[in-house]
Order: sequence, then structure tokens, then C-alpha cells
Amino acid sequence: MMRWRHPQLAPGDSSGYGLGVFASAPIRKGEVLHVLGGAKVSVGDLVARTLRGEERCDDPLQIGRRTYLVLDDASRLFNHACAPPAGLRKASELFALRDIRAGEQITYDYAMTVAPTDWSMPCQCGSRHCRKIIGDVTTVIPAQRREYERAGAVQRYMRAVQRELDAGTYRIPRYEVLAMAKINAMPGNNR
Ligand SMILES: [Zn+2]
Repeated sequence: MMRWRHPQLAPGDSSGYGLGVFASAPIRKGEVLHVLGGAKVSVGDLVARTLRGEERCDDPLQIGRRTYLVLDDASRLFNHACAPPAGLRKASELFALRDIRAGEQITYDYAMTVAPTDWSMPCQCGSRHCRKIIGDVTTVIPAQRREYERAGAVQRYMRAVQRELDAGTYRIPRYEVLAMAKINAMPGNNR
């Protein structure tokens, strides 16, 4: 049975994204929902696992410029939304951005976790504010990025990336370009 840090969470059908995680009772703004966990891997390991077909490159959570978590089953169940009720802080602590009603799905904005890169996937989160794609952090409109910042919903490594983006000094590192080139060249990859 899957367990999360917050006692009032339960798996359920997300109608669209398969299983998701839901609040089984009202949850207050600021409460910690879970600390996403898994095996820590480098960007090189991630590429190797993806090329071997052991991992979809969309699934791991970025927690550093070249560090990812291959999420465990419980952590992997949280879906993306473009206007979510939860956010990430520290390395991978998921918390409530606002009060959450019983029965509401717990989602967070995957785009806020992805440093600039050549990656995106379609989004069907159904939000009025849906961006239609899930991409890197630069696909989040600046006003929404500021809102996440004000709420403290920015991972530690991403705060530094954002400072460089705001200053216009961020450059996509060569290891990232090479990693995505390898993944995008995989047979059967139609992105
Ligand atoms: Zn969306």
C-alpha cells in the first residue's frame, strides 16, 4: 500500500492521467504533503537508463542542474497541472500552495522543476489556464513564476537558475544539450 507523508492522501482515478493522489480530507495551505523520493542519478545515468528503455526521460524529477530523482512509486503518482494546488520547495518537498478541499487532486507544476532544455510534452490538465504543453521553466509565464516565488514554491536549485534567467546570463549547459540530443535521436522518438 502506498504511503505519503501527509496522512490525508489517497490514490484515485485522475480521469485522464491514470492514477493520481487525492486529498481525503481538507488540507491547510502550507502543510507538507510529501517529500518526493527515489534513487538519485546524474544526467548521464538518466540518459543511459532512457536509452536502455528502463526509464522514460519524462518521469524523473530534476533536483539539481545535473541531478535527478528516479521517483519511487508513491512519489511518481502526483500528476502535473498548469494551475496546481501544490508546489515544490527545498529539493523535493511537496506542500499545499492554498487550502485544498477534500476530494481535490494533488498536482504540481512539472514545468517549474525543469531547467531550460529541449523538452516538452502535451498537457491536458483541463485547467482554464492550461498552457497546452508541459515544457521547461521558461514556458511558465513570468507572472505565474513570480507567484510561485512569492509562495516559496521554487526548488532550491531552480532559484539559482531563475536568478540567472532573470539576469539574462543563463546558458543551457553543454551536458544538457548533448543529453537531449541523444534522447531525441532515439528510434521511435517522434518529438
Ligand atoms: Zn495544462
